[in-house]
Amino acid sequence: MSVTPLSVSVPALNLKAQYERIRDEIEPVLKRVVDSQMFVLGPEVDALEREVAEFCEVARGVGCASGSDALLLPLMALGISAGDEVITTPYTFFATAGSISRLGAKPVFVDIEADTYNIDPAQIEAVITPRTKAIIPVHLYGQAADMDAVNAIARKHSLHVIEDAAQAIGAVYKGKRVGGLGTVGAFSFYPSKNLGGFGDGGLMTTDDPVVGRALARLRVHGMEPKYHHHEIGFNSRLDALQAAILRVKLRHLETWTFERRQAAQRYQSLFETHELTDWISTPRERDGHVSVYNQYVIRVPAVMRDPMREFLTSRGIGTEIYYPIPLHLQPCFADLGYKPGDFPRAETAARETIALPMYPELLDEQQRYVVGSIHQFLDAHAHPRLKADRAA
Ligand SMILES: *Cc1c(COP(=O)(O)O)cnc(C)c1O
Repeated sequence: MSVTPLSVSVPALNLKAQYERIRDEIEPVLKRVVDSQMFVLGPEVDALEREVAEFCEVARGVGCASGSDALLLPLMALGISAGDEVITTPYTFFATAGSISRLGAKPVFVDIEADTYNIDPAQIEAVITPRTKAIIPVHLYGQAADMDAVNAIARKHSLHVIEDAAQAIGAVYKGKRVGGLGTVGAFSFYPSKNLGGFGDGGLMTTDDPVVGRALARLRVHGMEPKYHHHEIGFNSRLDALQAAILRVKLRHLETWTFERRQAAQRYQSLFETHELTDWISTPRERDGHVSVYNQYVIRVPAVMRDPMREFLTSRGIGTEIYYPIPLHLQPCFADLGYKPGDFPRAETAARETIALPMYPELLDEQQRYVVGSIHQFLDAHAHPRLKADRAA
């Protein structure tokens, strides 16, 4: 089959399209902050913290400089330090494990579930030691991890749970929003996240007032009140400009999530119409979960993944690989002693997954072009053995 090329390309991400929709709302708030000349923390950040906490159905929000710091600060607040161990997944963005190592603690990995790419709770208990202090499940691509199972293990062994919710603001797990499912929730406002600022930013959520106060202190060098330092924090403040922009965007978040979910459904039905579901696996949303589809990630046989990506690039279609090297195989973690084969599901996912364009403004015709192009590639280039398997 052939597909007529679109005159426009289909980028992996299109922030300009989103900005066009809200430009008229953003410009006055930029002016408001600039006129106030209050740039760091202050009333805009306070308001954002309240609004995000309310959105996540959590008692308190504490803004900070990035999603990476939103992981680092709670580990510090919970007293995690050299000699401690923290369990997490090897199939995530670097910051999840990097934050643990930054404090001198040791990341301990367990494999993922093959269908959701999230940490497999069934493998957690086997790696718990007397030094284990916390678990960091990641809600990857916008779908919550299996939090009941994670929390049951955490309770049994008196461990803290920090949700890495950087990709999942608004995601629902059994009727509850992510961010309120563990001790602390960590969010990122990096521009490519579902709620993205015009630069870096992050926020932590918690229902624990003591932890909330510690987080708010640690982001300003452990200071409370002014010039009294009881512990050593660092500078991880959120800018007022970012907060003001994010407050505007937060009002649209539910609509954008709805549009992302619609786009995911359209991909699914296009893959079915093209009869491609024997070749590729599409994302699976578990019962009781509402995914916010920060990414739309499909799986293809490993031999075809990179050639398919090149073909799509040549057709003006942007894609990404999240993540080509699982964290246990990163050079910087060599001293942890892991080797290839330790986490086969994460390693397979690293070879087979590819993220397709996904954003609220993605058009039906763009999605038809993407799926039509994948069809064309598979017809022309699919590995002969795979073709034979399919014919059999
Ligand atoms: C983006 C991301 C982070 C880090 O957020 P930054 O704001 O870029 O520091 C952490 N964990 C995951 C899973 C992420 O996707």
